[in-house]
Amino acid sequence: MNEVESLYQDIIVDHVKHPRRQGLRDGATVESHQLNPTCGDEITLQLVLDGDRIVDAAWTGRGCMVSQSSASILAEQLPGLTAAEAGERIESFRASMRSRGEIPVDEDLLGDAVALEGAAKFVARVKCAMLAWVAAEDALAKR
Ligand code: ZN
Repeated sequence: MNEVESLYQDIIVDHVKHPRRQGLRDGATVESHQLNPTCGDEITLQLVLDGDRIVDAAWTGRGCMVSQSSASILAEQLPGLTAAEAGERIESFRASMRSRGEIPVDEDLLGDAVALEGAAKFVARVKCAMLAWVAAEDALAKR
């Protein structure tokens, strides 16, 4: 493992050990539950919206480290974004994840999600990494 890979691993482990915004709350505006049966991952994501702006995000789930760290990474960065800004991040992350490593994760836009870049090289892992992001997209579509 090279230095960058071990740094990325540290970010993932940190999010798994100290998940951000975990635990569902009352008063969510929209919610989405997503399953990844091939791995056994499950994510429920809640958003509180004020008009077009996400003011709070919360999630719960179970499954592999990739899916759970990805949910924490995403939930941490959603509050404060407009639906359009969140959509832009979801699309950017999806493009990288589907590129099999051809398109690097945009760290300026996606922050800690850069740690999930390695998942793009493994088809089975892409679904794990995308699960929370699909939940966010689905939740926003319910506005
Ligand atoms: Zn998984």
